[in-house]
Amino acid sequence: MRTLVLLLLWAMAAFAGGPVYVVLWFDTEDYVEPAADDAALRLAQDLTNLGVRATFKIVGEKIRTLEARGRQDVIRALALHDIGYHADNHSMPPTPSVYLRDLGFLEGAAEFERREGRGVTDLERVFGVVPSCYGQPGSSWGPQSHLALRRMGIPVYLDEGAHVGLNSQPFWYGGMLYIFNMGRYLLRPPLQPGASLEGTEKQFDQLAEELAARGGGVISTYSHPTEFVTSEFWDGVNFARGAYRDPSEWQRPRRRTPEDSERCYRILRAFVEHARNVPGVRFATARDLLQLYEGPLPPKVDRTRIAAHMTTRQTFLLSDAGALSAADMLMVLLGMAPQVVDGPVARVESTVKAPAIPRPLFERGKADAASFIGAHKRLPAAVWFGSEKLSIGDFAATLAADDGAAPQVAVRRANLEFEGYFSTDPRGTFNWSIHPEGFSAPELLELARLQGWTLKPARLR
Ligand SMILES: [Zn+2]
Repeated sequence: MRTLVLLLLWAMAAFAGGPVYVVLWFDTEDYVEPAADDAALRLAQDLTNLGVRATFKIVGEKIRTLEARGRQDVIRALALHDIGYHADNHSMPPTPSVYLRDLGFLEGAAEFERREGRGVTDLERVFGVVPSCYGQPGSSWGPQSHLALRRMGIPVYLDEGAHVGLNSQPFWYGGMLYIFNMGRYLLRPPLQPGASLEGTEKQFDQLAEELAARGGGVISTYSHPTEFVTSEFWDGVNFARGAYRDPSEWQRPRRRTPEDSERCYRILRAFVEHARNVPGVRFATARDLLQLYEGPLPPKVDRTRIAAHMTTRQTFLLSDAGALSAADMLMVLLGMAPQVVDGPVARVESTVKAPAIPRPLFERGKADAASFIGAHKRLPAAVWFGSEKLSIGDFAATLAADDGAAPQVAVRRANLEFEGYFSTDPRGTFNWSIHPEGFSAPELLELARLQGWTLKPARLR
């Protein structure tokens, strides 16, 4: 009887709230220190023994190094987990933000694919699967990666950073499911000597309870296999401040003692066991999250409601049926079928000076905008009315307020509210010990804001 009551209590606690998913990911990147191979093997095996699948984001040069060292044992152990991607060589200059900064959206996407595509091909060859996700090395982020990653069939962006974020939970951006900028829902077991897990476990319980109470969500936790065997980062030793060092001159990072490594493995195992035993909590890989969250296409929402929203503010809309990005809503207003598109590639100023546009000319502009989006799968930077143009933002506001009948369509000005979800700190957000001293990339944050048309919260199915 007592067991039954306990079981019942457990079941009530488990189903009292929404599901809480823990995404546990390992940036598997150190191709300098061979002991990091053993660490990846050990972690993959420990987790398999616990019945937990993690996401190993692997660097291209790392997988080629594992092959060259004959570490089929490591590859086999990793293959039981979800395979993600973590750039082709991670820290050898130029790193992604450095080479993307001077490139526009389309040129940058092509260059990202040229430089980073090799590692994706290698992972596919070795594991027989397309990586489920990508995450940038360090803070070396750039929005041009979205288009390239989608072309390569990678649908999830899993990492940490401050360039863009939405309520510390998963969101859709650039046509990718983003688990990024998770704020307090990012929790890492402490590996430093003398650290106790108790505080982290308490924090975990509190976060899980909070998320369950608000319908469920994600707790993100990550580490690097190399951290379990070294006490300094492999790339800081070789590529600090954008330095190039030939492979023949690579230096190995300082090692932890075997006893200290064991202590670290124990902490991770204890953390995973604790999380696994919290009612309502489940582990999920990047690939799982793509199934657990609703897809990128928007729900059907009444056009009148969309028009009212977009007239005053261009940002995502939350409805009972799901979320719509500003781009989703613009396409509804244009009468287009829902599809994944990119934002505009440039910011241009409106040149229309008149307070209104004659109906026939406005209708021509609308048709041209829809044609552009259909042809290029992205929003135009501006919409033409004869020789004059409206910026895409002014056009969206004007279109939303239009009743579709008046002989003159009154011009309205944009209020791009979604831009508030992006960092305005071009130096701090790209701060990384591997970037050149003082590196700053306002150009990438500007491109990021332009892509904010595609931003919206993700919703659990
Ligand atoms: Zn990394």
